[in-house]
Amino acid sequence: MRIVLLGPPGSGKGTQGVRLSETHNIPQISTGEMLRRAVADETVLGKKVQKIIQGGMLVPDDLIVSIIEERISNEDCREGFILDGFPRTTDQAHALERVLPESVDVTVYLNVPAEVVVKRLSGRMTCRECGAVFPRGDISLCPVCAGALYQREDDLKSTVEHRIRVYMKHTAPLVDFYRSRNKLAEIDGMGEPDDVFERVEAEISQVTSQ
Ligand code: ADP
Ligand code: ZN
Repeated sequence: MRIVLLGPPGSGKGTQGVRLSETHNIPQISTGEMLRRAVADETVLGKKVQKIIQGGMLVPDDLIVSIIEERISNEDCREGFILDGFPRTTDQAHALERVLPESVDVTVYLNVPAEVVVKRLSGRMTCRECGAVFPRGDISLCPVCAGALYQREDDLKSTVEHRIRVYMKHTAPLVDFYRSRNKLAEIDGMGEPDDVFERVEAEISQVTSQ
């Protein structure tokens, strides 16, 4: 199954992606994770994108498209994959259709109001090792892998607001893009992750039984 996760930053794409990946046994491909890894490893790509990510802007379409194209041609994607953070512009969505003429099976759109995502993002900590996120609180080590938790630079409040504006302008139009192709499953993304996941699974089983 080929799934696209769509929704504003902080809508829970990463969290739901992990659950989907485990349940359906297909890889979760997070472009944000891949880019942050490249920055941490100080690769050529990492050096190119570091400032862009810090500022909450989008990396160029052609760059991210070639990364995705290579990643999904990998053997482990034969049975499907979950795209988390891609496509993020209509140009990227068109590029994905060129790469995958049969298109994706479903786009899971996690709908969460902007006020809520601002609160979630500026209050969250991310694991440096596995990328899992947790509300800021009394833990300093990741409960999943014991990696160190840190606050992402682009989760600082000023950048968060900018990322949401970027989302509204460039990514939100993809809701209509996939709706018009009959590929949209709109999910209420409010509430506990497990409850949201139940809604996601209910929608996905409808798609696959069609
Ligand atoms: P979030 O969904 O929480 O905003 P991500 O981890 O998906 O964050 O992405 C972090 C940053 O990586 C983005 O703000 C952007 O700079 C860059 N990025 C990730 N995916 C893409 C993409 N498909 N196109 C352009 N830039 C991207
Ligand atoms: Zn971890």
